[in-house]
Amino acid sequence: MPFEKLAEMILPREVIGGHGAIEKTGEVFNKLTSSKSGIIVTGQTTVKLAGERVKDLLKSSGIETSIVITGQATEENVEKVKEQTRKVDARVIIGIGGGSKIDIAKKSAFDLGLDFISIPTSASHDGVASPRATISKNGLSYSVEATMPAAIIADTEIIVTAPFRFLASGAADVLSNLPALRDWNLGHRLKGEKVSSSAYAISEFAAREIINNASQIKPHIEESVWLVIKQIVFSGIAMSVAGSSRPASGSEHMFAHAVNTIKKGNGLHGELCGIGSIIAMYLHGADWVMIKNTLQTIGAPTTLDQVSLTEEDAIQALMMAHKTRPDRYTILGESGLSESAAREALHLTGVA
Ligand SMILES: [Zn+2]
Repeated sequence: MPFEKLAEMILPREVIGGHGAIEKTGEVFNKLTSSKSGIIVTGQTTVKLAGERVKDLLKSSGIETSIVITGQATEENVEKVKEQTRKVDARVIIGIGGGSKIDIAKKSAFDLGLDFISIPTSASHDGVASPRATISKNGLSYSVEATMPAAIIADTEIIVTAPFRFLASGAADVLSNLPALRDWNLGHRLKGEKVSSSAYAISEFAAREIINNASQIKPHIEESVWLVIKQIVFSGIAMSVAGSSRPASGSEHMFAHAVNTIKKGNGLHGELCGIGSIIAMYLHGADWVMIKNTLQTIGAPTTLDQVSLTEEDAIQALMMAHKTRPDRYTILGESGLSESAAREALHLTGVA
């Protein structure tokens, strides 16, 4: 049988992690392209943390870059970065930051058809290594297709200085692959959706590595940072292989998006996905206790109090979660959870 459409899988060509990994930036850049011009997209804090250093390192490798300081991941900021990139005729976009700067850089690279290098300064979610970006327009956030990083440079010496809460959140985001995979299976069985067995296996491997090494994920330890970053990279690769975020985003992510939509609590993306994972695994009749224990071992939140959410906020989010992404079939079904089912899920799992 012939292929119905062209399949494309873009994987990072270089993944460099460890103490002082940033020193390799020039070498990595020169391996990717013969161009000697790039643009650095970063923020007020991260420019001091790594942006200026990267500019100097690239200069000593014969590469000229200009630095663009940007803010929130909005459509306007993406347009500004694209305009600046065209102006200096840069061939590579380097994103340096924790979340929004990376999102702006990879969406800009996607729109302009350029290579993108990801240099995370924290590891709070799997976006630092994925082909998706979260961009907001008129106050609402959307997940959009973006460029998979051609290279990921994860300097553990830099990332370890970020608050530990971020790393625990990143680990929780990878852990949420487990309910997401169950949702994917459900989409396959009930809706005939195609499942990529290789993407499935890579995504599951990443989550299992977090579970098996949970006690090694600790503050102020560079090895812990690398352990989590590696699995974040595998999650990103799984998404690239699948051609969608399916292997890393299901009902638990819908819960997180619903919480963000109602603008309640103070949970980070990965933290909300971790709590969502406990509930999603419970709804699947799967081992939610193992997810909860792992989150507790890592030091990621497992209760609403820890992310300043009330029970009523969480119920509202659970009841509307299925609407955040209607095209994606999950355990939440087409009509979502009832109020009493949402309340029971929160109580039985000890989340509320
Ligand atoms: Zn996520």
